Amino acid sequence: MCRHLGYLGPPRTVADVLTSGGERSLMTQSWAPRDMRGGGTVNADGFGAAWWPVGREPVVYRNPAPIWSDPAVDGVLGEVSSTAVVAAVRSATVGMPLTREACAPFTDGMWALTHNGRIDGWPDSMAALAEWLPAVELLRLPALTDSALLWTMVRRRLDTEEPGEALRSVLVDVLEAAPQSRLNLLLSDGTGLWASAVSHSLTVRVDESVAVVASEQVDEEEGWLVVPDRHLIEARPGFLVITELEASA
Ligand code: GLN
Repeated sequence: MCRHLGYLGPPRTVADVLTSGGERSLMTQSWAPRDMRGGGTVNADGFGAAWWPVGREPVVYRNPAPIWSDPAVDGVLGEVSSTAVVAAVRSATVGMPLTREACAPFTDGMWALTHNGRIDGWPDSMAALAEWLPAVELLRLPALTDSALLWTMVRRRLDTEEPGEALRSVLVDVLEAAPQSRLNLLLSDGTGLWASAVSHSLTVRVDESVAVVASEQVDEEEGWLVVPDRHLIEARPGFLVITELEASA
């Protein structure tokens, strides 16, 4: 069910964010994840990383091949560094396309989003919700996947809602239509991390200089917290708030 990771803190190379942490790194989680909750075994259907050059929109690198097969990880991605990185390794849901465009992160403006999970009953369960989207936004879906639809719904709400509320309102709508869905979303604008735990694993570590949100912890540092199911978090260095998904705003 994919693994994702968001990092905010002192500048690090994108390669370091992907590979450091030894047996717990996101790279290792691509073939040896520890907590997939029955949703697949390896994350070999591509990977992606977005990073924010100072004051600018994120740059994104994605490849539909396994992360361990891409020489860019030890090459060019070791030459770029940032104070903000969002990355994911993908295990495609059965029936969904294996393309670069289907790999997270999805980006637009300052925003980047990744998704661990699947929408139950896809695509039929989403037909009524999709009708609320302008046809042109459906035609512009980056890929015909559940994750891309979630991204499009979240992106639209970010124009009028705070990030945490945009995630919350999309999750509530999707869960109403497809209650058995697994909906771990991770959103960033390069200054904050917003994420959900809905029927999937999520951990977070925050201290005064660093905030890391990940499907499963990516290093052996002290201080990782397991986010309870059906909760949302907002994190940045020195700041962490965890709220219930169903709590009112
Ligand atoms: N359903 C999404 C996809 O196919 C995410 C898959 C996952 O989390 N394993 O891309």
